[in-house]
Amino acid sequence: MHNPEVVISKQLPIYQHKTKLRQAVRDNDFLIITGETGSGKTTQLPQYLHRAGFCKKGKIGITQPRRVAAITVAQRVAQEVKCTLGREVGYQVRFDDCTSQDTVVKYMTDGCLLREILADPGLSQYSVIILDEVHERSLNTDILLGLLKKIFSNPDEAKKGRSFPLKVVVMSATLETEKLSSFFGNCPVFTIPGRTFPVSCTFGSAIGHKDTESSGYVKEVVKVAFDIHTSEMAGDILVFLTGQSEIERACDLLFEKAESIDYRYDVHDQTVEGLLILPLYGSMPTDQQRQIFQPPPPGIRKCVVATNIAATSLTINGIKYIVDSGFVKQLNHNSRVGLDILEVVPISKSEAQQRAGRAGRTSAGKCFRIYNKEFWEKCMPEYTIPEIQRTSLTAVILTLKCLGVHDVIRFPYLDCPEERFILEALKQLYQFDAIDRRGRVTQLGELMVEFPLHPGLTRALLKAASLGCQDLLLPVAAMLSVENIFIRPGHPDKQKEAEKKHSALAAKSGGMNDFATLLSVFQLCKSSDKPSAWCKDHWIHWRALKSAFSVETQLRDILLRLQQRDFPVEVFDGNKSELFRRCLCTGYFTNVARRSVGKVFCTMDGHGSMVHVHPSSSLFDQEAELDWIIFHDVLVTSRVYIRTVCPVRYEWVKDLLPKLHEVDVYELSNVAREEVTDEEIMKWENKEAAKRQQEVSVDDA
Ligand code: ADP
Ligand code: MG
Repeated sequence: MHNPEVVISKQLPIYQHKTKLRQAVRDNDFLIITGETGSGKTTQLPQYLHRAGFCKKGKIGITQPRRVAAITVAQRVAQEVKCTLGREVGYQVRFDDCTSQDTVVKYMTDGCLLREILADPGLSQYSVIILDEVHERSLNTDILLGLLKKIFSNPDEAKKGRSFPLKVVVMSATLETEKLSSFFGNCPVFTIPGRTFPVSCTFGSAIGHKDTESSGYVKEVVKVAFDIHTSEMAGDILVFLTGQSEIERACDLLFEKAESIDYRYDVHDQTVEGLLILPLYGSMPTDQQRQIFQPPPPGIRKCVVATNIAATSLTINGIKYIVDSGFVKQLNHNSRVGLDILEVVPISKSEAQQRAGRAGRTSAGKCFRIYNKEFWEKCMPEYTIPEIQRTSLTAVILTLKCLGVHDVIRFPYLDCPEERFILEALKQLYQFDAIDRRGRVTQLGELMVEFPLHPGLTRALLKAASLGCQDLLLPVAAMLSVENIFIRPGHPDKQKEAEKKHSALAAKSGGMNDFATLLSVFQLCKSSDKPSAWCKDHWIHWRALKSAFSVETQLRDILLRLQQRDFPVEVFDGNKSELFRRCLCTGYFTNVARRSVGKVFCTMDGHGSMVHVHPSSSLFDQEAELDWIIFHDVLVTSRVYIRTVCPVRYEWVKDLLPKLHEVDVYELSNVAREEVTDEEIMKWENKEAAKRQQEVSVDDA
């Protein structure tokens, strides 16, 4: 019997190059493979190598920058080779490991591979590592590129812990292959010739060069997608939007419009008899994702409303029309507030071309851009800036340091981050006691690196664990690691009802502390007889809470493992009711703010930004006089909002605050560049002592 998937895979452009590709991997320790998106690189190459016997000595590991891509592609490949997912073919992403002893083809996020290198720098379990989607230039992939180059281009290093050479394959969609090749010592580039069909692009008029923060794009993409449905010939539509809530709103609006159609009169192509609307975003349930790839029933036009994930990571067959919103949600380091912020920004021109190209895979297509030519010229950069040059480096710098890369400034980066970003990361690591003044990893830093969490949150968790009260912080860390748990219904009446339930939950935990609310929701739900019903009743996302339960267990396991080692133990001599918040202060003192007027606070990290308590916080309606608060994250719209907030006392942070300022950037850069001599340290410490002396005398006065 024929496996239909196999027939399809033989039609992919990569198939004709199967033999040559295998040989190229055999002949080279480093190889670059490029080819149009959809040519079969991600799904086929690992199978070819597997069948050619590359798994005899070790596994084949394939990294993806995106979690959903790793999961979906593994599902697809398991289906093609007819195995149960998690057996020969499996995946691993943060907090979700679907692999077994039998797994030889392993898809994973780049973050997961980075963690594996920490535990096993020689990657002794692998025979081939494939870094995929390198053109995306995600932070972790960029770091992996440098590490693999550093470890495996040095014969002495490479031999450590390995009895056979590792093959490194770097895959990318066309861009920057020369640069990549010279990075890996002019290694060969294998190009898979692709077929593409012309795509005609038209500019719209809805978004102009002054609309960089426009929120009108949701309505406009809906209008354009609907126009395509009614006036264009059959063929599926792919809409590029920014994030989950925008996508859900667009799907609702489209659905409403589609309901009103009379197919006898309203549509141009009389073979089109219906519209199937499907959302596609990162945190979507996987069974729902599967539908995206299936061909629609006869006569039905499929319309997928997606984030950027559909630009290169996932290929949907049958797409003929693209609607491009021109925007993307991106994590950027905001120097105004000194934090990483998820914001909506215009895409780059190369990104727009990539989006358009998705319509020309199997026949000629059309791309409708909702922005005008002026927006294209004035607001859209040529290329997307690599993540390493625009987000916080704290976590990866700690990883590098733990891997023995002391000089993090001269690490082989494909594109160097700005030195001030590296310095900022070092400063933060020093503030969290993860590195000492010489830039060496401390015992605490070695523990911190084990947690796949933001370093501040890890610091708070470790503080709690050393005081024996990890049960307070583990659930909070888990709740902050999953998607938002509070349901916000669109309908105004329902919204009121949900808000009422949520404030009752906040009040139950004592009120005025969003972290405590998270803890309490976790505990209440966990101890309830019917947790899913409890969630429904309280307008809480059951799926998110279920993940939080699983994440909490995993974090607890990591902690238990670490507690078998040399683990710090401390005694708390303060008021027991303050214990929880004081632990939080240890990790969040870098996010401390002091009241300015009303609900406006001023951050104390040296940036002195004005921030507002977000309406979703239980502190928003508080009349009480709060002078000092800490917060988990920031949301920037027309204002800078802080979310997940909790009041603290000045006495609790007083001793920590000097750490925000005492680090001298000049000194730190020395720390980063070379080992500082003891003499210099002495000088520095004397200076610090003198400064403290001065402060004391000011206090006394
Ligand atoms: P590349 O990595 O070169 O972009 P892929 O290997 O991801 O290409 O995709 C090759 C083909 O496999 C595409 O035509 C795509 O539509 C198909 N494909 C990939 N994943 C799935 C899936 N989950 N379901 C159905 N088809 C899929
Ligand atoms: Mg791919």
